[in-house]
Amino acid sequence: MSLRFQAINDLTGAKEVAVASTTKVTAIFGENVFTLKTAREYLSDEAYKSLQASIKGSKKIDRTVANQIANGIRAWAQSKGVTHYTHWFQPLTGTTAEKHDSFFTLKGDGTAIEEFDGAALIQQEPDASSFPNGGIRATFEARGYTAWDPSSPAFIMEIGLGKTLCVPTIFVSYTGELLDYKGPLLKALESINKAAVDVCNYFDKNVTKVTPTLGWEQEYFVIDEALANARPDLVQCGRTVFGASPAKGQQLEDHYFGSIPERVYAFMRDFEEESYKLGIPLRTRHNEVAPAQFECAPIFEEVNIAVDHNVLLMDIMSRVAKRHRLRVLLHEKPFAGINGSGKHNNWSLATDTGVNLLAPGKTPKTNLMFLTFFVNTIKAVHDYADLLRASIASAGNDHRLGANEAPPAIISVFAGQYLAKVLSDIETRVGDKFDEQDEAILKLDLHRSIPELLLDNTDRNRTSPFAFTGNKFEFRAVGSNANCANAMTVLNTIMAQTLKTFKKDVDALIEKGDKKEIAIMHVIQKYIVESKKVLFEGDGYSEEWAKEAEGRGLANVKTTPLALDAMVTDKAKHLYEACGVLTHTELEARHEIELENYIKKVQIEGRIMGDLAINHILPAAINYQTTLANNISAIKATGLPESAYASQLTMLKEISDRINIIYTKVNEMVEARKKVNNLTDTREKAIAYEAEVKATFFDEIRYHVDKLEHLVSDEDWTLPKYREMLLLR
Ligand code: ADP
Ligand code: MG
Repeated sequence: MSLRFQAINDLTGAKEVAVASTTKVTAIFGENVFTLKTAREYLSDEAYKSLQASIKGSKKIDRTVANQIANGIRAWAQSKGVTHYTHWFQPLTGTTAEKHDSFFTLKGDGTAIEEFDGAALIQQEPDASSFPNGGIRATFEARGYTAWDPSSPAFIMEIGLGKTLCVPTIFVSYTGELLDYKGPLLKALESINKAAVDVCNYFDKNVTKVTPTLGWEQEYFVIDEALANARPDLVQCGRTVFGASPAKGQQLEDHYFGSIPERVYAFMRDFEEESYKLGIPLRTRHNEVAPAQFECAPIFEEVNIAVDHNVLLMDIMSRVAKRHRLRVLLHEKPFAGINGSGKHNNWSLATDTGVNLLAPGKTPKTNLMFLTFFVNTIKAVHDYADLLRASIASAGNDHRLGANEAPPAIISVFAGQYLAKVLSDIETRVGDKFDEQDEAILKLDLHRSIPELLLDNTDRNRTSPFAFTGNKFEFRAVGSNANCANAMTVLNTIMAQTLKTFKKDVDALIEKGDKKEIAIMHVIQKYIVESKKVLFEGDGYSEEWAKEAEGRGLANVKTTPLALDAMVTDKAKHLYEACGVLTHTELEARHEIELENYIKKVQIEGRIMGDLAINHILPAAINYQTTLANNISAIKATGLPESAYASQLTMLKEISDRINIIYTKVNEMVEARKKVNNLTDTREKAIAYEAEVKATFFDEIRYHVDKLEHLVSDEDWTLPKYREMLLLR
């Protein structure tokens, strides 16, 4: 019996796994995190204060204090049964990495002790020579090291084998280049903090810190593990490369409105509980549009922490799914023909005075501050749309962007009807003759119209890649499998740079004698004029928009290799350097790594297609071909006329034709890969993989395989079908 039928058989007996239910989230929330509250308990006053200061980013921790902190963390971890620690980091491969070391050690005289000293806390050499480095380390040193990031708290991972103390770190080469996602993110946050505080001080001198906030919404699919295991494509690349659309897909939308299936519900409760222990504030869970698709979202947090939490959540979900004999699919497009998965990044800026800078205020003064940040965001997106596009580019997301279910590859901003009107009013009203009376009227208008916006939730545009949603922007084009750090690094960097320029522009006008508010209004008006072409209120999924955007001169880069070009333009290099986020070498290295990731993904998918076609699809088709041929001979032998087996002949002919095409195309694809593999320039190779391998062969081979699925007897078909993966559990 094929794995497919075994899996289906086993499913009949599949029951939800019982989960111990916690009645109160607060009872377990953060229990596996070395929070400041825990630190208070385990650290001396000196060590505690030092840790606290370094979390605020104001002070470095010295060696002796580091020893004390390390000891405190170990004591806490050991009290919870932990024996090993690891430096946990986020390499550019898109997953997290860890290398476990024991607290256990032998002293010179052979005494066995448990130890975790400051040096081990601060730095570890993970022997990570095989993590991607874009050629940086090859030319210098073979290895990099991980360095403690005190701004993310240590935590205990207890799912799977053993319990491990995880120390969040950044990953750096010996020559000092950042080789991970967190390093540049932290620098971008530092940069925007400074730039935003300066601008805030026009309105409020009490603001001393601005912290970007992130609330992600994670979409994912859940299917039965045995069915997933019977699909070599899901096992190896996380998406199905073949599979005919089922009769019942998402057209009834019954999944979206239906109740959560029991097995999945048990799984959700279980991973939520594990998330709470790690301090991840999950808040919502629901079904998504496609069958077997779901979403969860937390309460928003500081970007740095939110990024860690999202990466952790993805890890937790995959681990916990095993307990339930389920498989979580985080790929952007696991199934053709139904919706893919995204990860909306809700983003805003919070001051240490408790103000959300992207929430319209209650007084004319706070509204001018809101308007300043609102317009600066639009300007940043307009000026650096290409970098935002690059930040969400991946082989997986290419299947999703612009596929009529996700925002297009065109970056535009949705402001909402009210604010769009406010912007156009400013544009027309603030002319050369703009004076204090105009200013007063405008402030009043703003004051009157903006608060209504918050009440009106219907003013939503779900087709925009970058939408204002009342008190935050929602970057909707991020892929479900992505590390949000990438998008967040870019967004916060471009915002920092735009705010810096804004300050310069305003100061220049003030110097010329303009009153502060009038200077600000003038610059706001200038920015609106300069960036209004990026504003779009209509249907982002429509073809008309693609045409209109082209007319407006907005880019529509559909493939990853070309989208990534934006990372290494002079403009990008200047930006990252000016904000102190990434050096030119680091940018070049990242560009190279992303291209290589793309190449590898497409290469692997190409191989999987070949393997499945030759070893699964064609054998099934040939079996059935033989059955048909035997049947035809048998009928013929009875002396019946050809009309008696005419349908069988037609079927046989179609199957034979498709077998030939598939076989030929798979071989041609192998040849095409060989040719492309010989290219030495990484960018050219990535472009060629897209054009000459993926675009030339993937859809065509798939077309014929999916046709065969409809022709060949169900009994002979070995791969689980879409209807089974999506609807059975
Ligand atoms: P929806 O967009 O589905 O109507 P919400 O408005 O509640 O739902 O928010 C969706 C996501 O946005 C949640 O993850 C939430 O935490 C996040 N969010 C809300 N306010 C902010 C903010 N100021 N900064 C960042 N994220 C936010
Ligand atoms: Mg949303």
